[in-house]
Amino acid sequence: MHELSIAQGIIEVCEQHAGGKRVKSVSVQIGALSGVVPEALEFCYEAAVNGTLLEGSMLEIERIGATAFCECCGAVAEIEHFTDSCPCCGGFPLEIRSGEEMRVKELEVD
Ligand SMILES: [Zn+2]
Repeated sequence: MHELSIAQGIIEVCEQHAGGKRVKSVSVQIGALSGVVPEALEFCYEAAVNGTLLEGSMLEIERIGATAFCECCGAVAEIEHFTDSCPCCGGFPLEIRSGEEMRVKELEVD
């Protein structure tokens, strides 16, 4: 499963930064265009943290909306998919400005 490898990636990053301490909570940012399903990630995370420094920690997911810039009319619009055209003028393609994020924002250690 896609989300399982992402969960393992999050755990790896956190263990590197935790300095051997137990991690209490982790905040991650997930963009609407990242292809990550937050619910699936939570599920995989809970399974993947067993036996790591992150066991029993909270996963806080911050969702980032997708926005894109339209070269045709200069609008910065909210979009849902990579393939969306400009809601203002119908221009395509759009330059993605946000929504592709998938990163660990911060972690809290003991
Ligand atoms: Zn436009």
